[in-house]
Amino acid sequence: MGNGSTPEMDEAEFREEVRAFLDAHAERRVEESFVWGEGSDAVALFPEHTLAEERAALADAQAWARTVYDAGFGYLSGLVAYGGRGLPRSFERVYQSVAAEYRTPSQSVFGIGLGMVAPTIEAHATEEVRRATLGPMHRGDIVACQLFSEPGAGSDLASLQTRAERDGDEWVVNGQKVWTSGAHLADIGEIICRTDPNLPKHRGLTGFVVDMHAPGVEVRPLRQMTGGASFNEVFFTDVRIPDTHRLGDVNGGWTVALTTLMNERSAIGGGGGGVGPPITTRLIELARAQGRSGDPLVRQQLADLVIHERVASYTNARASAKLAAGQLPGPEMSIGKLTLTANMLRSSEALASLLGVELVADGGRWGTYAWAQYVLGVPGMRIAGGSDEVMHNIIGERVLGLPKEPAPA
Ligand SMILES: Cc1cc2nc3c(=O)[nH]c(=O)nc-3n(C[C@H](O)[C@H](O)[C@H](O)COP(=O)(O)OP(=O)(O)OC[C@H]3O[C@@H](n4cnc5c(N)ncnc54)[C@H](O)[C@@H]3O)c2cc1C
Repeated sequence: MGNGSTPEMDEAEFREEVRAFLDAHAERRVEESFVWGEGSDAVALFPEHTLAEERAALADAQAWARTVYDAGFGYLSGLVAYGGRGLPRSFERVYQSVAAEYRTPSQSVFGIGLGMVAPTIEAHATEEVRRATLGPMHRGDIVACQLFSEPGAGSDLASLQTRAERDGDEWVVNGQKVWTSGAHLADIGEIICRTDPNLPKHRGLTGFVVDMHAPGVEVRPLRQMTGGASFNEVFFTDVRIPDTHRLGDVNGGWTVALTTLMNERSAIGGGGGGVGPPITTRLIELARAQGRSGDPLVRQQLADLVIHERVASYTNARASAKLAAGQLPGPEMSIGKLTLTANMLRSSEALASLLGVELVADGGRWGTYAWAQYVLGVPGMRIAGGSDEVMHNIIGERVLGLPKEPAPA
């Protein structure tokens, strides 16, 4: 890494350092007012790119990640021993707030790796794996995916059946994962396997870091209803993983999985912004373009949406403050995820009433049929990272302290 860190560096000094770096390497974002009918009308929630486009975007993302990391801004709160800069987490927020003013390549391809897998590696991996992966992940050299769900295990993750059997200093993995986002671009994966089928289901699991290029790993894309293929099935046939790549204790995989899932909910609930005008701004303009902005029912629907969006942003701010104060993301993160998806559902309902048939049939008009991509992505958002129903259960049981959901017979 380029810049050294000084423990006594203050945030104001750091902010200047960040600005100097960004001024030298990126362009300032020009504040563009949103004008209906101009620019792109794309509002898709999931990538709808060809593999070649995805690979090109990955190369751009990696080039930028390397520039940032090599200048000392890529792993600010990481330990120096792991390639980090050893600064308090608050410095990450300073970096992000300044970087938001600049136009830089999307880093979303690293979202699962840095948002979920890296914190799990920090918490549970061996020293060898931490040293080998954390720096390169933050530099964009290693892309990671999350290998949890299986055809028979989603919400009930502890039912998973992919087996890992010990063979000397290695484990041999056989089984199938599904819905693995980005597996086709990944170099490593965090996998949870069954290591003792005789123990109660939550207690017979173990986590590992698996090499996605190892012999016996086969990634098959799954095409989603919007056209893209950002998920995959991943098959494991006699894949060998060294014991040093184990996460946590043998049969302690449930704790490992929970670390990842808590980070997943905060990543999904806290995000959803993206570049470009917020969805409600676009919806209000759509109402105008459709000549419906004076309709009292439409106005009521839009006002409701604006209010809920504001409430969601306050909820997220509370959760972020908790994270910034160094507290672990807790079940409250489920609220952030649920408010985000509830607002997506409200937007979809408003869209259906504003667009009618234009939502399902392409009449070639700007800003109309393009919304189909958004509406068709919402169910996926309501399932990913724990479905709405599961989030309600978590909030009921772990935040409100209500009695537990009865288990199926
Ligand atoms: C966009 C997207 C990205 C994803 N990426 C990944 C990834 O990268 N890696 C990965 O491992 N997985 C990934 N997944 C899979 C995801 O974690 C699972 O789809 C999710 O956990 C739900 O599991 P399932 O699909 O098996 O549905 P099920 O668990 O079979 O659920 C079916 C229905 O039953 C309901 N239900 C289930 N249990 C309860 C309950 N106790 N109480 C009330 N209702 C219940 C659910 O809400 C749902 O409506 C992704 C999924 C999506 C949609």
